[in-house]
Amino acid sequence: MGLYEVCDASPYLKTAAKYHGEISDDPCPICHRDQLWRVHYIYGDELRHAAGQARSRTELPVLAMTYREFQVFVVEVCLGCDWNHLVEQYRLGRDGLADRDAARREAAE
Ligand SMILES: [Zn+2]
Repeated sequence: MGLYEVCDASPYLKTAAKYHGEISDDPCPICHRDQLWRVHYIYGDELRHAAGQARSRTELPVLAMTYREFQVFVVEVCLGCDWNHLVEQYRLGRDGLADRDAARREAAE
């Protein structure tokens, strides 16, 4: 599944924002009427049926302990005019944490 699918899923994106999203401090740059909502999507082979689902931000640390590796796409959406865009993309999971620990040990030596 690609990025295009994430950003092209406006009806789903708006529903996801209502159930899993969090409102941001930023007003919509297009319509200036509404605040933007942030939705976190998770992707990864290991997630199986959960791949491509929206999750609340508070669930991410739990998922990061559960799975070895997955991608997080943060999308901002305006419920007023449907405008949306990808804010950031990053990797989470136990493997990522292990990498960071190793990097920290190397830095300390
Ligand atoms: Zn808008």
